[in-house]
Amino acid sequence: MRNRVWLAQCPDYGQSLEEKIEKAFDALQVWDKIRPGMRVVLKPNLVMSSKPEQAIITHPAFTAAVGKCVQKAGGRVVIAESPGGPYTPAAIKAMFRATGYRDMAEACGFTLYTDCKSREVTLPQAKRCRELSVVEPFLDRDYLIDLPKLKTHSMVGFSGAVKNLFGTVPGLQKPELHCRFPEREPFSEMLCDLCHFLGPDLSLMDGIWAMEGNGPTGGQRRDLHVIAGSESPWALDVAAASLVGLEPEKIAMLREGHERGYGPLDLSELELVGDPMETLLAPDFLKAQASSTDFIDRLPKFLRPAAKKLATPYPRIDKKRCVGCGKCAESCPQHTITLREGKAVIRYQNCIRCFCCHEMCPKHVVQIKRLGLLRL
Ligand code: SF4
Ligand code: SF4
Repeated sequence: MRNRVWLAQCPDYGQSLEEKIEKAFDALQVWDKIRPGMRVVLKPNLVMSSKPEQAIITHPAFTAAVGKCVQKAGGRVVIAESPGGPYTPAAIKAMFRATGYRDMAEACGFTLYTDCKSREVTLPQAKRCRELSVVEPFLDRDYLIDLPKLKTHSMVGFSGAVKNLFGTVPGLQKPELHCRFPEREPFSEMLCDLCHFLGPDLSLMDGIWAMEGNGPTGGQRRDLHVIAGSESPWALDVAAASLVGLEPEKIAMLREGHERGYGPLDLSELELVGDPMETLLAPDFLKAQASSTDFIDRLPKFLRPAAKKLATPYPRIDKKRCVGCGKCAESCPQHTITLREGKAVIRYQNCIRCFCCHEMCPKHVVQIKRLGLLRL
């Protein structure tokens, strides 16, 4: 049951979506697990303020459909999220309003968490990060539902159920963690620590409008028409990554999770139910540029450090289109972006290539570049 992954085609965010989610609840035997009065916390991906049609955030209609099923089971729905940037009541209220979550929650009778309280926690089984802070509802819940958006990710390759839980860490502590773990491998290990600690009870992925290319915010919308769910965030990510032509063993957080015994790594280990996977595949899904450095692993060992240095992509600001809003500087863990004459400027000597600036720029003018010689 733990490795069961339910997959379904879903044409849009209309009427049929709630019926599909009900089927997911049937297939994953969720109805009996949510008891009347339970506090059920939903964690969508609201990384930045954007319209649902941009496919950056978990669509409010998707979250609404899940919440309504939770209500049918007798649960009380609380929606919580800590996006990028400062985590304050004013900022999160503005985010819920701009993304359509405020209106949706009012219409459905859900509670939006806006108190922005967090607690420091110790992760007893952590291998990389033993101490961090987590936003309170994710700790004080009876049942946690992770609601990722299916997207590529410039730093870690894939943004699914495991990565989505990084949004349980309060606002500006996220850049701090990028600073502590600037490389993809240790950062992915930290994500494994966090996901294992939080242990979501259920994960349901919104891949109706997915994002390909330079996700999680600067890619292009891809209408995949897929939704998927599992009790295991690891199993769900293995299935979803495979579906869009990514190899799970090349995604550091999934490989690490598998090595620790948290989840599977191969499709053969999954129990796939629902619509046949072959009918949902999108092998031409575009990868994120920054994560396409697999060729280094194929070079002789002695050449790898130099090749890695040359091939590591870097952020570059398109000055003509920069509007000087300062969101990139606010999110930069190294404080290496300043505003000069109304334009953002990066001091590269301190840049750790975390791409938070790329992720948080509302105008999508922070591009990911690599040396022309090694551009893939
Ligand atoms: S977030 Fe984007 S638009 Fe705003 S200052 Fe930075 S680069 Fe310019
Ligand atoms: S400039 Fe961008 S990529 Fe470099 S450290 Fe700052 S946020 Fe990260």
